[in-house]
Amino acid sequence: MLNLVIFGPPGAGKGTQSENLIHKYGLIHLSTGDILREEVKNQTELGKKAKQLMDTGKLVPDEIVIGMIHRKIDENKQAPGFLFDGFPRTVAQAVALDEMLNHKLMKIDKLIALEVSEEELVKRILKRGKTSGRTDDTDLSKIKTRVQEYEEKTKPVMEYYKKQGKFRSVSGLGEIEQIFQGICKAVEV
Ligand code: AMP
Repeated sequence: MLNLVIFGPPGAGKGTQSENLIHKYGLIHLSTGDILREEVKNQTELGKKAKQLMDTGKLVPDEIVIGMIHRKIDENKQAPGFLFDGFPRTVAQAVALDEMLNHKLMKIDKLIALEVSEEELVKRILKRGKTSGRTDDTDLSKIKTRVQEYEEKTKPVMEYYKKQGKFRSVSGLGEIEQIFQGICKAVEV
């Protein structure tokens, strides 16, 4: 079994590289952002709670995303492995994920962090906003809030995995295929 976390600030290319990773390694893709957007679209109770926070670029509460991930893992008992995308985003989420996986005799193998400068991130998100239909991709102040949330709450997650010897950093700049080669090397070496 192979369980990976794809990590990085908003706009680093996690979604794009996740597509490549799930095809190459046959993993189940668990993107908390995608799951939350689906909940919002379907106007579920959870979606209603999350919408306002997502619209402003703030993180939704840990217990909401932890519960979501828990359910998805349980629904995919035969999975050959998982790719966690956009999760964990706080140290509390990382601790909860370890506990959840431990309980099932599973573990995270590696966290792959995509490194991209802030200037490039903003450029990429605004470009994506032209086609993504995401309101949090088009407004500069929302993008800044998302980057700020990343800096304050999400960056410490890297230390958590560094201490476990599972942290791998990959340049997120350049051609998609070339970045993917770097990711595969980090996964396999
Ligand atoms: P993303 O598609 O990963 O950029 O996520 C979009 C939005 O969903 C974020 O700005 C947060 O509001 C929310 N979100 C996604 N994943 C998480 C998470 N693991 N913890 C808290 N909020 C999240």
